[in-house]
Amino acid sequence: MEIARTVEEARRIVRGWKKDGLDIGLVPTMGYLHEGHGSLIAAARKENARVAVSIFVNPTQFGPNEDLARYPRDFERDRALCENMGADLIFHPEPEEMYQGAQAFVDIGLLADTLDGAARPGHFRGVCTVVSKLFNIVQPDRAYFGEKDAQQLAIIKKMAFDLNFGVQVIGCPIVRESDGLAKSSRNTYLNAAERAAAPVLYRAIQHGKSIIKKGMPAQMLISEMEKVLAAEPLAKTEYVAVVDAMTMQPVDTIEGAVLVPLAVRVGSTRLIDNFSFAPQG
Ligand code: AMP
Repeated sequence: MEIARTVEEARRIVRGWKKDGLDIGLVPTMGYLHEGHGSLIAAARKENARVAVSIFVNPTQFGPNEDLARYPRDFERDRALCENMGADLIFHPEPEEMYQGAQAFVDIGLLADTLDGAARPGHFRGVCTVVSKLFNIVQPDRAYFGEKDAQQLAIIKKMAFDLNFGVQVIGCPIVRESDGLAKSSRNTYLNAAERAAAPVLYRAIQHGKSIIKKGMPAQMLISEMEKVLAAEPLAKTEYVAVVDAMTMQPVDTIEGAVLVPLAVRVGSTRLIDNFSFAPQG
């Protein structure tokens, strides 16, 4: 496994792979890897001759009052995990390497204005910009993203199509702890009481899944899920929504395929989760 810390080193390695006609899978991450990331690397390993993992805590996707400085980092542990999972390259640049003097950014419209985009202004602009840069540097055939960040996945798919990146964007299922909490690097922020409270998101999802059906008013589902969340004193709901799975715009009634995303603060930690539903017939 090789480690590239500059764009030029990564390009040199990628050029060698391209010359040999090898197809490339890319797994973009911010590091502090867990089994959720591992499942993306495993999927990439299965489907590509070469696998690149990027580890980059991307400053442009953090708001001024967010957790950029304290975001967890452990490169040695990440390196070992990537090696064990059979990755061929880690691209691990410094922020200056990626953004020195940068003035061009990638904006995406409507899809990024709702949900996490509304709660975190500029977040998806940062995500789209860094993913565009990674696509240009690594030139992957396929790129792997988690369904945990469902709005991000929809945005990256649309961006790759609209900007003709020629990259196949593949979504991978949410990996959970045994009590249902979605694995996340940010779970490390939770103290013991908060960690015990955090599976309330999953309980709300389970309840939602058990009652959702075609023709149901979205507000009825939202209220039911909010009731579950409200029963946990350490949890403060930011939003529960029912949106069209493609456009991320709210729906009134559940007719076609929908995404049901939620964002909840447990203590000061912001957790997100979701489930999808597609009515039969
Ligand atoms: P992050 O390092 O948090 O930016 O995540 C990097 C990638 O891993 C994103 O595509 C995430 O959606 C994905 N990911 C994070 N957590 C999970 C999880 N629990 N299950 C599946 N994918 C995940």
